[in-house]
Amino acid sequence: MSDDELRSFKYDGEVKPGEKRQFRYEVSETYLGDPVEIPVTIINGDKPGPRLFMTAAIHGDELNGVKVLQEVADRYAPTDIHGTLVLLHVVNVPGYQAQQRDLPIYDQDLNRSFPGKSSANTAGRIANQVYERFINQCDLGIDFHTSTRNRTTMYHARADIDDPDVDRLAQAFGTNVILSGEGEADSLRAVASRNGIPTVTVEMGKAHRFQPALIEKALDGVESVFATYDIVPEATRVDPLWRKVMGATEEKRWLRADTGGLVEMEWGPNPLVHGGETICTITDQFKTEEHRVEAPFTGLIVGVLENPVALPGHPVCHLVSISPETRDEIEREITNGEFDGYRSYGQQWMTENGHDDS
Ligand SMILES: [Zn+2]
Repeated sequence: MSDDELRSFKYDGEVKPGEKRQFRYEVSETYLGDPVEIPVTIINGDKPGPRLFMTAAIHGDELNGVKVLQEVADRYAPTDIHGTLVLLHVVNVPGYQAQQRDLPIYDQDLNRSFPGKSSANTAGRIANQVYERFINQCDLGIDFHTSTRNRTTMYHARADIDDPDVDRLAQAFGTNVILSGEGEADSLRAVASRNGIPTVTVEMGKAHRFQPALIEKALDGVESVFATYDIVPEATRVDPLWRKVMGATEEKRWLRADTGGLVEMEWGPNPLVHGGETICTITDQFKTEEHRVEAPFTGLIVGVLENPVALPGHPVCHLVSISPETRDEIEREITNGEFDGYRSYGQQWMTENGHDDS
């Protein structure tokens, strides 16, 4: 990073040091031939520093990050910033308009289309515009997601922590839980990180909602990144009292229904469950049969089904094991009222059907 000199940010246009520009950038066209335009904010600080991109709604119905970016864009001026903020408020515009995850055109997943090509399908062309014009000019990035609909996910980061630069960024954002791995090969996070632009995904709550508690946490995380990288040197760092990094080798398991029926969650109010505790029951319509899904080990529930019906094989809960030390720290926080229960505000959280939602 040439962080020590002032730089213009160039896409097709140019945002000079000390300038904040908000505009729409055309990445595709509708069937009517009208432009499909991404809302963009670029804040080029009047002091040198790294270029940080933030992206939201690459999956069109994942809205919490959209609110995070709106707030960041509103709060900061070039006089606050050392370096440059590049905010792509809604990347998947057609999906956002339809309030669905994928591009409505043949259900293409924009986050499996990076870096794309100018000769690719629709998703690949949009991804290519986004990547070449904006992402490729940045030094690091944060991509905001939620769970897919009917599920909810715990607030956590996804990052390839075997890469020290990515690890630094993930630690800086300050979530309790980091799910480690490279991610899907053609996701924005994986492609950017592979190309030397350390990028993390933040997963937060559910689709189709603004969840204020999670949005506040994410804004604290953004500030913490600003502090760590001296983008806003006086910003406050988040240093969580416990961290759980889940690698590929850790015990984590999707617990599945063995019968069809009605699902009633019994865990809570916090996501810590002990081995043998009942997580949910599944009953038939007449309540003549009841199956209990129990925790096979002590762990954290990082994702649950929200739609309260299940079929045999249906994932109902994603559980990760934790060490006795982490369990003790979480229990201490619960006792002291410091644990941010994800169910406060009446909201659960969870991830997707065993595959990486990001
Ligand atoms: Zn997503």
